[in-house]
Amino acid sequence: MKTPLVEMDGDEMTRILWKKIKELLIEPYVELRTEYYDLGLRHRDETGDRVTADSALATKKYGVAVKCATITPNEQRMEEYGLHEMWKSPNGTIRRILDGTVFRAPILAKGIRPYIPGWKKPIVLARHAYGDVYSAADVLAERGEKVYLVGEDAEGKETFRRLVHDFKGEKGMVQGMHNTESSVRSFAHACFRYALEENLPLMFASKDTIAKIYDGQFKKIFNEVYEEYRAEFERRGLWYLYTLIDDAVARIIRSEGGILWACKNYDGDVMSDMVATAYGSLGMMTSVLVSPDGKYEYEAAHGTVTRHYYKYLRGEETSTNSVATIFAWTGALKKRGELDGIAELVAFAERLERATVATVEAGEMTGDLIPLWCGDAAPKKLDTEGFLRAVASRL
Ligand code: NAP
Ligand code: MG
Repeated sequence: MKTPLVEMDGDEMTRILWKKIKELLIEPYVELRTEYYDLGLRHRDETGDRVTADSALATKKYGVAVKCATITPNEQRMEEYGLHEMWKSPNGTIRRILDGTVFRAPILAKGIRPYIPGWKKPIVLARHAYGDVYSAADVLAERGEKVYLVGEDAEGKETFRRLVHDFKGEKGMVQGMHNTESSVRSFAHACFRYALEENLPLMFASKDTIAKIYDGQFKKIFNEVYEEYRAEFERRGLWYLYTLIDDAVARIIRSEGGILWACKNYDGDVMSDMVATAYGSLGMMTSVLVSPDGKYEYEAAHGTVTRHYYKYLRGEETSTNSVATIFAWTGALKKRGELDGIAELVAFAERLERATVATVEAGEMTGDLIPLWCGDAAPKKLDTEGFLRAVASRL
């Protein structure tokens, strides 16, 4: 490798997978050059979370990163790890620095039947990773309070005042959220570009019948941006559809896949878990953050698989699916190889992907996939390391 790959290590069961994947599937075959950042919660705490920002800045510099799942601390984690602060979600921090769009795609294997049998091809989901409820002003309202939405110009002069609610006789809660034209516009560009890169039609949905102004802006901006891509879409026989989120959900369920589904931030959060689960297992879903200036960060879509980790710590057998984490590595190696013109690296990554899928297709898999198996022979359940060794022997 010429340019270092930014490596972001993580937590719990996925940290165990990480080490084993490198040891069994990567290091024996690749002269791996990484710039290593330990995003494990302990080290984030020791560095005052500086390491997370540093890893994102390194991604900006080098262009490609591979990330292990990480714990987003909550009250319980504060206690468990004796943290100095409740550090923010590392993914959130990295997304803010790279200003990117997250694309999530399932890995399909013959013999693994999706819960929705009509889905024959991947549904790739793009989540707008900025604003809305994720950076909202969230407040409790006291009895008798009137809550307004107020605008001020640069001189501090009031430009508008709108009553949100008059909490006459009861307490309640209010939320003020925002988005920006430029963020929605760059999200739209990212989606149309990715659709062309992957040769997929694109659907975008919101609720502009209710949020006429807020979601209306999303719709308008997407339609405007589409005009820049329309000719190429039409030339390739691809389509772009704007519709209401309820209709989009119905269309997705009825479809056979092979669509890029662009979602607003919250829809993407929820729907990506639904789509991942419906394809079989969270362990089969990959994710890539693409920034507007073409920086890529690859990871598995699932978390640190805490429940399995505690079994592992007790010395019990675990059967954790490593497919998505393997594909995070292959995605990153392929992209690094493409950018640096190293054909062997690209070819290796593709071989590793084929070996991984072939292992599952041969009926050798982790426990999460067993109930989904519809192949001829009886499936063989492997433990965490057993699966990685089965892939290694095919490789
Ligand atoms: P999770 O780690 O995704 O696991 C939820 C459940 O899904 C697991 O208990 C397991 O079900 C199943 N599962 C997920 N991945 C699997 C795999 N690779 N193989 C087999 N089964 C798998 O979500 P969570 O338990 O809600 O969150 C755990 C921690 O991860 C949290 O601290 C959270 O902050 C963090 N997290 C990080 C990221 C990220 O870094 N991108 C994303 C989400 C969550 P069974 O227990 O039924 O086997
Ligand atoms: Mg979610």
